[in-house]
Amino acid sequence: MKYCSKQVNSLPPYLFSVFHQKKKELQEQGVDVIDLGIGAPDLPTPSFIIDRLAEEAKNPSNHKYSPYEGCLEFRQAVADFYKRHYDVKVDPDTEVLALIGSKEGIAHLISSVLDPGDGVLVPDPGYPVYQSAIHLAYGSMISLPLDEANGYMPLFSKLTKPDLQRAKLMLLNYPGNPTGAAVNLSTFKEAVEFARSEHLLIAHDSAYGLVTFDGFKAPSILQVKGAKDICVEFGSLSKSFNMTGWRIGYVAGNKDLIKSLSIVKSNMDTSQFLAIQKAAAAALNSDFSSVKENNEIYEKRMKAVLPALKEIGMDVKRSRGTFFVWAKVPEGYTSQSFTQKMLEEAGVILTPGPAFGSGGEGFIRLSLSVPSGRLEEAVQRMKKLMKGGS
Ligand SMILES: *Cc1c(COP(=O)(O)O)cnc(C)c1O
Repeated sequence: MKYCSKQVNSLPPYLFSVFHQKKKELQEQGVDVIDLGIGAPDLPTPSFIIDRLAEEAKNPSNHKYSPYEGCLEFRQAVADFYKRHYDVKVDPDTEVLALIGSKEGIAHLISSVLDPGDGVLVPDPGYPVYQSAIHLAYGSMISLPLDEANGYMPLFSKLTKPDLQRAKLMLLNYPGNPTGAAVNLSTFKEAVEFARSEHLLIAHDSAYGLVTFDGFKAPSILQVKGAKDICVEFGSLSKSFNMTGWRIGYVAGNKDLIKSLSIVKSNMDTSQFLAIQKAAAAALNSDFSSVKENNEIYEKRMKAVLPALKEIGMDVKRSRGTFFVWAKVPEGYTSQSFTQKMLEEAGVILTPGPAFGSGGEGFIRLSLSVPSGRLEEAVQRMKKLMKGGS
């Protein structure tokens, strides 16, 4: 491509673009395509948050630059949330930073800690943004395999000595995109212990920390004793409060890592619009009844989808969190051949597992963030195609 640096030109390919092209072609032929590849909530932002934004937007004191680290009201709301929800104490002044979405923070944290060639352990399968951010920071990705048999816990024993020697940072993500897997605090304890013995830093991506099912409460890695010595945790309002477009998230934990990130950020941006930060503070200070309502909707949708997938020979476990279903493709298919068949013959878009790393082969990701009627229509079409009738 013209005018691109070598680093930009050599970014890993965007696997979704092929599907978008095909989707457009089918739609032009009049096919009613149902997109279950969506990675954002379909539900609207709760009205109490919108009301707060409207009110704050009218206040001229919010029209100026935010402090680089975010306003105190937002950072205090994050600290209070940690205390209330996890019984973890973080100092709003030195251990919390507002972010323009957690994706921004994760990418900038990576560039703030890596020297060229430094390695980063990345969950495989995992969120593709990690890999691109490492590449743009001249780092090198080291695949951290996840153990399917044990609910996608990290397989530290699979890492080699040379890989561990060049690794500086480990990324984790539970409840995880794309697998929907969650872990208990004991797994975080093990991770912190392992990182400590290998002199690694940990960044835990908790984008789905509040999106959980069946009464399961996802732990924070900061609940592990001593975690603040080497860990930060990223949080986001995007998924839990349906605020993807608002671009607001936070990071909490080790103050030196946060300082390092804030130096990069203060040279790149000047935080988020104050009115958005204050509306997000209202969300974090709320009773989370809106979060609970959302989760119940996803849970209901999941219940409707799973039996149909099992009927067509897809091995699938209930997700404990996220709004994704991660399912094995039926016998005789690869991720690619199955997603292609579903798109061309059922008009249903699924995401092939390898879009999230080689560890995703043999799986597809199905998003529950589409209206229930459309979701049911999609699985009925899949069933009809695979079972011929019924
Ligand atoms: C959606 C998502 C994010 C990004 O969230 P923003 O706060 O909107 O930037 C981060 N991590 C994972 C795993 C996600 O799925």
